[in-house]
Amino acid sequence: MCGIVGYAGFGDAKEFLLSALHNLEYRGYDSAGIAATNGDEIRTIKRAGRVKGLEETINGEFANATSGIGHTRWATHGAPTDKNAHPHFSYDGKVAIAHNGIIENHSELKRRLEADGIAFESETDSEVVAHLIARHMEAGDTLLSATKKASRRLKGLSVILAISSNEPDTVVGIRIGYAGSLLLGESADGWMLASNAAAMPTDVNEVTPIDHCEAVSINRNRSMIVDVAGNVVDKAPVTIRAENRISEINEYARFMHKEISEQAATIQGAFRGRVDFSERRIEIPELRVLPSDVNRIVFAGMGTSHFAAMYGARQTERLARIPTSVEYAGELADRDPVMGERDVMVAVTQSGETYDTLVAIEKAKASGSATAVVTAHIHSEAARMADVAIDIGSGLEVAVPATKTFINSMLVLYMFSLQLGHVSGRLTDHEFERHVESIVSLPGAINRVLGREAQIAELARKRFADVTNMLILGRGDHYPIALEGALKMKETAYIHAEGCSASEMKHGINALIEPSTPTIALVPNDGEFRTKMLTSIYEVQSRRGEVIALASEGDIEVEAIADDVIPIALNEENHSPFLMTIPLQQLAYHAALARGIDPDRPRNLAKTVTVA
Ligand code: GLU
Repeated sequence: MCGIVGYAGFGDAKEFLLSALHNLEYRGYDSAGIAATNGDEIRTIKRAGRVKGLEETINGEFANATSGIGHTRWATHGAPTDKNAHPHFSYDGKVAIAHNGIIENHSELKRRLEADGIAFESETDSEVVAHLIARHMEAGDTLLSATKKASRRLKGLSVILAISSNEPDTVVGIRIGYAGSLLLGESADGWMLASNAAAMPTDVNEVTPIDHCEAVSINRNRSMIVDVAGNVVDKAPVTIRAENRISEINEYARFMHKEISEQAATIQGAFRGRVDFSERRIEIPELRVLPSDVNRIVFAGMGTSHFAAMYGARQTERLARIPTSVEYAGELADRDPVMGERDVMVAVTQSGETYDTLVAIEKAKASGSATAVVTAHIHSEAARMADVAIDIGSGLEVAVPATKTFINSMLVLYMFSLQLGHVSGRLTDHEFERHVESIVSLPGAINRVLGREAQIAELARKRFADVTNMLILGRGDHYPIALEGALKMKETAYIHAEGCSASEMKHGINALIEPSTPTIALVPNDGEFRTKMLTSIYEVQSRRGEVIALASEGDIEVEAIADDVIPIALNEENHSPFLMTIPLQQLAYHAALARGIDPDRPRNLAKTVTVA
C-alpha cells in the first residue's frame, strides 16, 4: 500500500524524490526513506515516521545525486522501525530496492539465502528481493535482467524499484499483479517512476502505466518498457488531469477539513458532461454500453465505497426496479459467486487500486458479466479493467478518511439509478424530471448544512472528546449513512462506533445502551421512517441512553425529546442521505481534533489499499 518513486536524469534526484514522497504519503506513512547516487556508491537515509522527519534528517545530504529511489511505507511484515524502512540493500551493498506489496514466499527465500551465508538486516519480506537481484548481477546480469529473473521467484503481488552501483544512472521498475500502479513520466530533466500521477512534477503532463508483468528501465537519456518475453513495449501515454493533482490546502488546517468544507462545489464535478439543466435531463453516456436486459446488478466495494455501493443498490432497486445485491468486494472475491451474462457488476473504488475490488471485477468478468467501475481515478487499474469507467468527478482526495468521494460516489450512483429507471420506462418523464430538479438543488442544500459547523464542533468537544463507545442508528436509505458515520468515527476519532439499522436494535444491540454510550439517531423527514425513528429514540432513552438527533429543522417533537439536535434544512426527501452525511463527517473531524488525533493520517491506515 506504500508509495514508491524513482528518478534518473540530469536534475536534483533528492528534490524530486522528497517532493514525490510528500505527495504519495497518503498511501502509507509509518516510515520513509530514499537511496540515491551521484555515480559512485549508493547511499540511503531512512527512518520511522513521516516524510517531514525524513526530510529534516536528510538536510543537506545527497547534494549531487542524479538517480535514486524512494519509499513511504505501510508495514505488512516487521514493525515500522528505522531498520525496516525501505530502501533495503543487498548483502554486497550494491543493490537497493523499494517494494510495494507482499512477498508470500519470503520465509522460504530467506531460509535459502541465509543457508548461503547471507545475513538479513530487517524483518521485512521485501529485503529478499535486494539479495536475489544482487546474486543475478554477480553472475553477470544487467540490473534489468537481474530484476526480471529475481521477480520470477516471488509469489504474491509486488511493485519493485531497484538501483545498483554497477549501473548508477539506471532505475529499474517491475510490476507483478495488482499491488498498486506504477507510472512512467518524463520531465525536462529526466525520467521518473511513481505509484501515482500525484507524485509527478507539474511539467509532467502525461504518464504511461506499466502493466502486470512488464518491467521498465530509465536512465538520463531514455526509458524502455519490456514485456515478459523481453520485447520492447510501445504504449501511448495518458494525460494527467488537473483534478488528479494534489490541490493546495489553502486556508484550511487539514485536508479532511478542506475536503468536507468544499463539498458543495465538489459535488458539481459529478454533473460535468452529464446534466442538461435547461432540459432537466441527466445522462451518464458511458452507461449506453451496458446490456439493456439486465437480470441483476451486483454492487461491490470496500470501506466507505461499500457503503456508497449499498446506497446505490437501494436506489437502483427503488428507481429502476432492477434486482440488486451488495457485497464487500473482498467477500465476493473469496467465494465462487453465481453471476452470468445478464448480470452487471458495479464496483465502487475511489482509488481504482483497491486489491479486493480488482479481484471482484476479475471474477465478474470471468463469469461473463458486464462491469462498471465508479472511481475518482479514471486512469486506474480498475478503470482499465472494467467495461465502463464512471468518473465521480471529485478530484483527488488527500485525507485518509473518505468524505467528498463518498458524497460524489453516492450522487453518481443516484444518477445511474435514475437513468436506468428512465430508460426502462419505470420512471415517467415527470418523475425523472422531478428527480433531476432535486439533484440540481443539492449543492445549495449542502452549502446550508456546511454552515452549521460551529455548532457541530462544539458538540464534538462537549460530547465526544472522552467517549469510548457510541451507536449511530438509521433506517432505509439512512442505514448506509449510519454505517458510514460510524466508520468515520472509528477511523478518524478512534471511537468504537457501531452503525446499526434501527430495526435491528431489539435483536441484541440494545444491550450496549448505557449512559456513557451516546446514540446518534438519523431522523428523516418523511412519515413512516420518522415515526419509527422517534420510537427508537424513546427506546434508547428508556434505557438511560443519551440521544443526539440529526433531524429536520423545526421538528419540534424531536427537539423536545432528544438530548441534542443537529437541525438540517431538509426540503427534498432525496437530499436527506447526503445532508445527514455531512454533519457526521464534521463530527468525526472535530472529535478527532478534540482527542488530539491528526485526522488526515489516522494510525495504522493508508488511503489506497493495494494488499488483501
Ligand atoms: N511488505 C513490505 C513491508 O512490510 C512493503 C509494504 C508496503 O507496501 O508499504 O515493508
